[in-house]
Amino acid sequence: MTLQQARHQSETEADSSERHTAIGAEDVHVTYDDGTAAVRGVSLDVKEGEFFGFLGPNGAGKTTTIKTLVTLLYPTQGAVRINGYDTKADPQAVRESIGYMAQETSIDFELTPRENLRVACRMYGVPREERADRIEELLDLVDLRDVADKRAETFSGGMQKRLDTATVLVHRPPVVFLDEPTTGLDPEARLRVWNYFEKINDQGTTVFLTTQYLEEANELCDRLAILQEGQITHTGTPAALKSAVGTETLTLALDDPSQENRRRARNIVRQRSALDTTAIERTADGLRIEADNARSATSDLFTELSAAGITITDFDIQSPTLDDVFLTLAGEKGEGKDSADSEPTSVQEVVR
Ligand code: ADP
Repeated sequence: MTLQQARHQSETEADSSERHTAIGAEDVHVTYDDGTAAVRGVSLDVKEGEFFGFLGPNGAGKTTTIKTLVTLLYPTQGAVRINGYDTKADPQAVRESIGYMAQETSIDFELTPRENLRVACRMYGVPREERADRIEELLDLVDLRDVADKRAETFSGGMQKRLDTATVLVHRPPVVFLDEPTTGLDPEARLRVWNYFEKINDQGTTVFLTTQYLEEANELCDRLAILQEGQITHTGTPAALKSAVGTETLTLALDDPSQENRRRARNIVRQRSALDTTAIERTADGLRIEADNARSATSDLFTELSAAGITITDFDIQSPTLDDVFLTLAGEKGEGKDSADSEPTSVQEVVR
């Protein structure tokens, strides 16, 4: 590492530690009246400006957790602080500083987007003189200006979701909670909603999103936590979680798959390429290589092979997906094994 890189790294670390905590939860437990222990010791430290994903299967406790963060439920044990306010001691201050989009839509289908936003402005106490501008700005942001005066009942699911999110943003909350916001949307609608969430995050809003879709978490989140049976089993970046599960695999087909040619290719992979190879296997028509950096080092390898007169007729690179992460971690938990690094009840940073 150069001095400059070291300085940059220490500055980056200082930046992230100096950022305020937007969402803090300390050993939160939530037990329903019927005795269901839905949340069992969740701790969180989400920094301002982060896009944080909360991922888990049905029944894991995601909705119960999010309701506890937004003051609709209180912890049976433990504490939550949002934007510095304790949810139990100061719920009103918390509510004024957040936006919360529940799974069930809160828009009035009989009204138009403009009317829905007017109602929301009144509800959230947006000063009268700011309302008109705020409404126009949000209509643009969610791309509903063209239909601003049409009744929402005629809208597609994706348009309704976008309007719903706009209504929870009228008071410009610094933190937004989204509970499975794209469930039931078709892929195109999901993409548009994603773009919109990215936009509000780019503008500095902290986003906390629960989802069952691994692809969604992968696409949007800076960091995510995996919740299983009311406990966070892992936190980390999507990439870190993926690399905790497995390496990338590169398969190559050679135009001359003779023993000799495959041996030569293997030696180049081992000795001359930048691949961090963990395993190489000779296949019927070429090689199968496992390496953490297969995707980034492949073009360099191809140059080396070509220089040695070895021709590749086909190749494929496979990375572990978040589905793999999820299945592996769920399996580890199910088998009672320690996952990546011990203590399943505590928040773990898989890789920093
Ligand atoms: P998720 O959002 O991850 O699907 P939930 O938070 O909805 O999970 O549910 C977690 C657990 O709590 C489940 O076992 C669910 O049946 C239970 N649960 C949810 N709401 C209630 C309630 N009001 N009363 C009792 N149990 C509940």
